[in-house]
Amino acid sequence: MNPEASRCLLCKKPKCSLQGCPVHTPVPECMLLYRQGNLEEAGRLLFENNPLSAVTSRVCDWKKFCYGNCVLNVKLVPVKWYEIEQEISGEYLFKHRLERRTQELEGKKVAVVGAGPAGLAATVWLYEAGADVTLYDANPRMGGVLRYGIPAFRLDKKYCDAFEAMFEKAGIAFRGGVEIGKDLELKELSASCDAVLVAAGAESPATLGIPGEENSVQALPFLKNPSAYKLGRKVIVIGGGNVAMDACRTAVRMGADTWVYYRKTFENMPANPMEVEEAREDGVQFKVFQAPVEVREDGVVFCDCENIKPEDGSRVITRIIEGTEHFVPCDTLITAISEKPAASLQEAAEGLENVWLAGDFLTGPATVVEAVASARTAVEAIKSR
Ligand SMILES: Cc1cc2nc3c(=O)[nH]c(=O)nc-3n(C[C@H](O)[C@H](O)[C@H](O)COP(=O)(O)OP(=O)(O)OC[C@H]3O[C@@H](n4cnc5c(N)ncnc54)[C@H](O)[C@@H]3O)c2cc1C
Repeated sequence: MNPEASRCLLCKKPKCSLQGCPVHTPVPECMLLYRQGNLEEAGRLLFENNPLSAVTSRVCDWKKFCYGNCVLNVKLVPVKWYEIEQEISGEYLFKHRLERRTQELEGKKVAVVGAGPAGLAATVWLYEAGADVTLYDANPRMGGVLRYGIPAFRLDKKYCDAFEAMFEKAGIAFRGGVEIGKDLELKELSASCDAVLVAAGAESPATLGIPGEENSVQALPFLKNPSAYKLGRKVIVIGGGNVAMDACRTAVRMGADTWVYYRKTFENMPANPMEVEEAREDGVQFKVFQAPVEVREDGVVFCDCENIKPEDGSRVITRIIEGTEHFVPCDTLITAISEKPAASLQEAAEGLENVWLAGDFLTGPATVVEAVASARTAVEAIKSR
């Protein structure tokens, strides 16, 4: 047994769950079952609450969610619940069978578009509510960002494989390689179903809007298939989010002298701070207060920047300092500045009454656990229609 379990106070009103966790993981109940050695029941509870528990316990920013909200955080060291959740749910996921079904959605035909975390969680809940579910994805396999974005050194692909095996056993139809909006129109799909849940993620990259941008590589296609790229000796990654961290950590593993250039400073980076630390440990180097103004074939022109804190306390803004242009040579520039949901699919969904949205497609780029939370809301809405 993980000794962390004995430190948990089994709070009656657990902040870790109620305030910290977007899916309100039942921490005290599962902790108690774990202490009693009933891992099977603890696993079942976790899966019921969040089918992606094996994944979120590995990729969540715990300091922001459960760990950071542990009551012991005030004076002592918080409990590492995520370690215990990894152990319980990591094993349980491979045992779960989609057997218990209710009659709530019996006879209803439901399509789920997108087999990322939101679509996977929704498929589980819709199937368990008795619906006849078909899952569509433009990619040939399930997992979304979990399979095609987050590198294997951070998340084992076996957790995506587990869903494929589970759905196949349950007889859930998966139509991989089908892009809604291209191979099949959303309108047609919605006309042939009682409900459609679109969880198509946020994959359209934002652009830098500077000259020479065509000389750069986008982070998401790079992460999808790194070996297709010849990076050269020196790589610069632009961005400060999770995607930038995965891109730089992948490039450094491919042997490149890898640098991250970011417009603001470390405390402004949206990436999980643990990932930034791990990137440093991997050998990635950072340069802050740098904004690109031109991309050339052999490098990038940057300007120095400074942070300006508005007097009204609103979000810090960055100002380029005129006359500080300087050229930094590199062999490959990878941009990871931000992503948006596909506008054409958003437009197609407008006005269709039996279409619900979830995950990054609804919220914009967020996190795995938030995608699951929004899938739950969408499934509840479909059930109560
Ligand atoms: C590189 C990277 C690293 C990240 N790291 C973390 C992390 O460490 N921790 C964390 O919590 N979050 C992380 N995130 C964010 C997290 O992965 C996302 O918030 C989450 O995957 C969103 O889930 P989703 O199901 O909404 O979308 P996605 O995972 O993006 O899945 C969407 C799916 O929809 C499919 N699709 C898109 N368009 C269509 C269409 N027209 N027809 C059919 N299928 C379509 C796609 O192929 C994809 O499989 C990271 C994101 C990236 C990109």
